[in-house]
This record gives sequence, C-alpha cells and structure tokens, in this order.
Amino acid sequence: MLSPDLKVAVRSAAELFHRSRRLREHLERIGPGESGEHARLVETMRRALEDIEDTMMGNFALLWEVLPQEQRATMTSPGPEEDTPLAEVFNGLLLTLNHFSLRFVTIHESLVYLPWQSVEPELVFSLEGCFPEFCKRYQPSIVMGSLFNAFEFDFIKILKQKLADIAEVFSGDERNFVLMFAICDGLSPLACAILAHEVGHALDAEHDISRTVANESVFASNSLPSGTLLNWCREICADLIAAQMVGPSPILSLLSMEYCLYPSQNICQHGASHPSTRARLRILADDPAQSTATAPLPSELEVYENAWRLNLASVFPNDTERQEEEQKHDLQMENLHFRMARHLREKLSSLGEALPRACFENDSLERCKKRLRLGSPVSAQGDDPKLLVEKVKEHIRNWPEPSEARCDAFKNLCDEFRETPVKVPNILLSGYRRRWGIIEELYDKPEPLANAASVKWLCDSMAGLDRLIGSSIVTTCVHKEVLRRLETNRRRKKGA
Ligand SMILES: [Zn+2]
Repeated sequence: MLSPDLKVAVRSAAELFHRSRRLREHLERIGPGESGEHARLVETMRRALEDIEDTMMGNFALLWEVLPQEQRATMTSPGPEEDTPLAEVFNGLLLTLNHFSLRFVTIHESLVYLPWQSVEPELVFSLEGCFPEFCKRYQPSIVMGSLFNAFEFDFIKILKQKLADIAEVFSGDERNFVLMFAICDGLSPLACAILAHEVGHALDAEHDISRTVANESVFASNSLPSGTLLNWCREICADLIAAQMVGPSPILSLLSMEYCLYPSQNICQHGASHPSTRARLRILADDPAQSTATAPLPSELEVYENAWRLNLASVFPNDTERQEEEQKHDLQMENLHFRMARHLREKLSSLGEALPRACFENDSLERCKKRLRLGSPVSAQGDDPKLLVEKVKEHIRNWPEPSEARCDAFKNLCDEFRETPVKVPNILLSGYRRRWGIIEELYDKPEPLANAASVKWLCDSMAGLDRLIGSSIVTTCVHKEVLRRLETNRRRKKGA
C-alpha cells in the first residue's frame, strides 16, 4: 500500500513511461528512412528517451531501498528544510520526474522534423461510434500533431480570416472541422477519448451555446477579461457535451495526459484559456444526472486531488501565499465555474435529442472490465450469464417432456440472450475502468517502476488493453453494420 504522495509520483511516472514507450515505438516504425536520411535524428531522440527512463528507474530503485516497507503507506513529501537521506532520495526522484516530463514533451514536439503517419482506422470508428450524426454531417478530419495536446478548429474559418477573397469559394455556413491529437497517442483508442471534448467545441459552435451563456448579464458583469470568461465557458461547455454523449472517458483521458505534464508545469491555477482541470473534474463529478456507472471512481479522484495539492505546494512554497491561492481558486470555482456549468446544463437540456445522452449500466461495465482483465474483447454482450442459468433451470421445470412447443420455447429463450453490439462509449468507459485497475495493481507491486521488468509489465498491460479496446471498437461497428443489413434484407423480403 502506498501513501497518497507516493501514488501521485508513481502514477505520473507510469504515464510518462507508457507514453515514452509509445514514442519510441513510433520512432521505430519511422526507421532510418530509405537511404538513412533521418537515421541519426531518430537515434538521438530514442537515446534521449532511454536515458531518462533508466535514470527514473534508478531513482525508484533507490527510493524503495531507503524507504522501509512500513513507512510506505504514510510517507509524505519532505518539506524544504528536511535534511534526511530519505528526503534527499525523494527530492531527487521528483527532480528526475520533472526532467522526464520536460524531455518527453520536447522530443514529442521534435517529431515535427520526421515523416508523418496516417490515423489508425479504430480511431475513425471510435469517433463515428460516439458521434454518428456529427460525423455524417461534417466528416471531420482527424490529424496527428507533434504538440502533446488536442485541438479543434474550423479550417474554413481560418482560411477566411487569412485570405479575404476565399469567402467566394465557400458558402456562408459551410464548416470544415479538424480534430488534432498527439502523435504518441495515435495507437490508443482510449487516449483518443479526449477528441470527444474537441467535438464538444464543434457542437458548441454549431449550436452557439457558450457564447450565449457567457453574454448573460450575470456573467458579463464579472470583472474578468471577457476573453477569459468566454474561454472558460467554452471549455466547460465542451466538457459537458462530451460527458453527456460519451460519459467520463474524455475527462479521464485528459487526466492521463496531465499526469505527464504535471511534474514540470503549473496545473494548480486557472489559466486564461482553461479553468483548472481540478475545477473541470469537480463540475463533472457533481453532475446531478450522475449515476454509479458514470461517476468518476473515488479512488482516482483522490489521487488527482492530491496531485493538485502537491503541485500547489511546489508552485507556492510560502504557506500564506499558498493558502491565498487555494482560496482564490476555490472561490472562482464556486462563484463562477459551477454557476456557468448550471446555466450551460440548462441550455444543453433544451436542445434535447440534438445532443443525446449515453446510457451506462454499472453491471454491464463491470462484466466488460472483467473480460478485459482476462484478455477478452468486449465487442458484444448479452444478459448476465447467471440470469441465463436461472432461466434454463426454469425452462427445464416448465417443459419436462420433449415437444414442438418446448423447442419453440427454447428458441425464444435463446433469442432473449443473444449478444448485441456494445456501444463505443461503453467500451471506452470499461477500458478506463480496467486501466485504473492496472494502475492499482502497479501500486500493489513490491517495487513499482524500479526495474525494466516492472516498467515492461506496465507498458505491455497498457498496450494490450489498447489493442483489445481497438479490436472491440472495430468489431462492434462491423457487427452493428451486419445487423443493419440483415434487417434491411428482412424488410425487403417482407415487402416483396
Ligand atoms: Zn477545449
């Protein structure tokens, strides 16, 4: 069992190890080029990543060596004056974590110098499964970028801003939505749940939601710069749309990214472009329409809350300043962000079927999670097998003798338990539950991340899960299409 502070450090390093391996795999796929034209560049990037991974493992090995087992559940980050061997080792580990984060982000940005790669089909399937109407209407472009971030923009709007005469080419309301996400996440349909937030921005622009809410007198009279107010409103709106249509996976994918940036950036304050992720997470966790299935897991919320506190302590080491900052943060969250969320929710609910709500059942998610743990895909699901056993027993009691009627009854019973395609948002959420299960298994290991075997276990588990989620998404979409065609044929025959 690890203390909350140790859990944050392990989680952050785990996310960095996982993405660093993805980045190295990406470099391997690019290779040296046909005539070795970028061999040295690829090699330099690979070596820089391997080097920091080795240092990070060495730091964890040292920590587990000097930290007695019985102190692991209680250990807190040492204060600035603490001068013990343990404090020195732990501060050294935090410093390496900071370097790991900076190096990973910088090398990721340097991918701009290397050849590009196309988007994997499961990502397109995933987006179409979550937003079928939106995809049919706009055919959004998905592109991968070297910034470790996700974006949404309307390409036609950008063209019109830069080229005065281009307006003649496009009609007034024509739109070309582009969704961009980080190259290292290109093979992860789970990581790409973040694109749901980006689609949220596009749907917000289409229905003109956040601009209307930000202009309401209660917000417009706020002393904040109007740009900041509108930015915050836009971000909260995109989060709410994504949560309504896809569930908690988009915000969970944001958390996973943020743990990679957290050791080297200020994530504790609200920025001019985004409210803090803590505020965004709280807004979603406090959703009145929340169910057990869609509520973020309390254990995961607890670790993030602690990560936020540690970040606050590192940005504001002075006690008085830190308390003032915390008060300011919470006040803005209560007085502005939560209020904005209430107004936005009202506005969103008035749009009805234009923004449908995804449905989740806790039992079904838990059954999917169990299957994923066993290495099985989750593309289709019927009723609970325990129920099936009960119904078969009942059938045997009701029909003791063979007859044609017994055959018919059995056929009907089989139909009741036929597996149907699992919806993409449900696959993503069960994937995130399993992902959190992997992190918790890592916390329980005797020496997490202290050697190559431990890091390999983590990266293989994460990559295996991504492959299962990717194949489940493709299979479920094909299954749905087959059922649609069968139904069309059946109707056609009936009509004939
Ligand atoms: Zn956004």
